[in-house]
Amino acid sequence: MPIESEYYFDKVLMEDLITGLTKRYDRRRAGVHVSTLSMCPRQDVFKERDHPPLTSRELNFFTSGAASGAAIQSLADDENNGYYNRYNKNNNTEKKYFAEYLTNIGGFIQGHIDLWHKPTNTPIEIKTSRVTKEEKLPKSFHVDQLKSYMVGMSADHGILLYQLINKFEGDPFIKFVIKMTKKERDEMALMKIEDGIALIKAKAYKRPELARHVRYDSNFNDWLCKDCPWRQECDDINSKEIALRLKK
Ligand code: SF4
Repeated sequence: MPIESEYYFDKVLMEDLITGLTKRYDRRRAGVHVSTLSMCPRQDVFKERDHPPLTSRELNFFTSGAASGAAIQSLADDENNGYYNRYNKNNNTEKKYFAEYLTNIGGFIQGHIDLWHKPTNTPIEIKTSRVTKEEKLPKSFHVDQLKSYMVGMSADHGILLYQLINKFEGDPFIKFVIKMTKKERDEMALMKIEDGIALIKAKAYKRPELARHVRYDSNFNDWLCKDCPWRQECDDINSKEIALRLKK
């Protein structure tokens, strides 16, 4: 296609961006990310098995979320104030902003904390949201992701910072302080390792039925399941499981 064609950049630019996003996601597939365990692990297995092509929809979600997160991280990139993130110049000497759980089957579960305030040992997770009504927040899966980091950092509290991108009046930033006891962190660590091992196995064998699903969870089924390309297959797996249980 000639470069002067009015369609050239429509096609080539979008294809290049989506290829870049695909490569980024492929790099992440090396292990299990804590955010995957906060959503639907089974859907991740379907994606690994079928490799559906990414679309401009995913590109939109990725760029809008990443832009806000990266901008806030770069503004807080000041070790003098105690903030650490992946953009810190000296981050080679400060690895604690990684939350990593090692599993006993060789795989690993890891995540990058958006911001870590070292003096108070506070992980900070940054999210954008399209909601305009604050009572719809925080989302359970965002709290779960932050809690995973709190487990990794042995932190008693963490902060979930939302940027409400459609709120043009009043304060578009809203924050939630999330607390956890040591007992709660210990219980969650066990649960995440169990969940992570199941997902690592399910991905290795390409068997979605081995991974946890969220089909009956009201936090997910009216959006994630509603738009999930594997919903019918997921329902078939669940129906078979129910039938097997009833037979016993
Ligand atoms: S339908 Fe829902 S529960 Fe099933 S794989 Fe898709 S997102 Fe997960």
